[in-house]
Amino acid sequence: MTRARASSPSPALGARLLAWYDRFGRKDLPWQANATPYRVWVSEIMLQQTQVATVIPYYLRFIERFPDVDVLACATLDEVLHLWTGLGYYARARNLHRAACIIREHYHGELPRDIGLLMQLPGIGRSTAGALLALAHGEHHAILDGNVKRVLARFHAIAGWPGAPAVEKKLWALAEAHLPAARLRDYTQAFMDLGATLCTRGQPACARCPLAHDCAAYADGRATDFPSPKPCAAKPVRRITFVMLRNKEGAVLLMQRPPAGIWGGLWSFPECTHRSGRKIQRWCESELGFIVEHVERHGPLHHTFSHFHLDILPMVAEVTGQRPAVMEIRPAIWYNITKPDARGLAAPVQRLLLELAKHPARKIHDANGELRKTGPRGRSSQAPAVSGRARQTDF
Ligand code: SF4
Repeated sequence: MTRARASSPSPALGARLLAWYDRFGRKDLPWQANATPYRVWVSEIMLQQTQVATVIPYYLRFIERFPDVDVLACATLDEVLHLWTGLGYYARARNLHRAACIIREHYHGELPRDIGLLMQLPGIGRSTAGALLALAHGEHHAILDGNVKRVLARFHAIAGWPGAPAVEKKLWALAEAHLPAARLRDYTQAFMDLGATLCTRGQPACARCPLAHDCAAYADGRATDFPSPKPCAAKPVRRITFVMLRNKEGAVLLMQRPPAGIWGGLWSFPECTHRSGRKIQRWCESELGFIVEHVERHGPLHHTFSHFHLDILPMVAEVTGQRPAVMEIRPAIWYNITKPDARGLAAPVQRLLLELAKHPARKIHDANGELRKTGPRGRSSQAPAVSGRARQTDF
């Protein structure tokens, strides 16, 4: 059977999408009940780059703790990052918090209803603003998130990477042209659902798709050829050493990272580039002011960011010295790993802390807290289990 290539927006697309949504669309997502602009906003930010199933427990905890803009704006960034720990892309949480402060100060705690004003808030782009107005108020705005880009690129067989400005412009024009006259709330949700459940990246279920009749990519048997992948340069690899300083009580030193950059504002281990136990011992003493009694190497972690790979070598250093100078000049704490408090932690840091909690400190302190003589100062040893690159934790 031959199908006509969909070269122009089909007036029937919206109707078919809505009919499909009425039968198969998702209507019981937590942010769909009582869909206030605030709740929709939080969900839309969490759903960027993240799947629904992952988001739901984070969303429920977040809304319980921060039920509205005012409560979010009054919270500390640390509290916000704590509830974001593990969700990734932490700039989203920082922007959410900053935007909440602006909304409280300039808009009496209510999200503005004007798309231009919304787009001036940190972390809200054109698609998020459109989704917010369509889902919360049923207004006539298009969205162009990853799912919609994929569906439109296939439906119209649009070549090129959707992130390229010319391609994106074309997709925006199509997204606008397809908007139906009514039921914008359902239509927006339907488009997102179709992309998430049928027109998926790897295995589109075209046989069950309400748009299959005039989908250009399907007609050509090339559904998975669209959208074109991002032209990629090889990602560079950075190598760092996490120095996990543990004191005689078993607490671990964490330092707060600068507000900008990777894991901005989160708590993490001191970092250096040394790989050997002796050099790390000297670094801890000269840079941090600790006396190191024992250094132990653990299995490496591999973490991928959007623009580089990070190879992490975790080294545990048993130390003495309660409050060296570094703790006076940078935000730093002794983190009790058996009774952790509310801190924003990067995912690898959280995993390493959990592993450390399972492996108590070496018995190098006696009952009075004094160091026992366990061997030459600064000796290092290799942990028995060493992970491969693909494994995230292994000790
Ligand atoms: S027919 Fe296939 S490729 Fe086209 S929109 Fe539907 S699921 Fe996607």
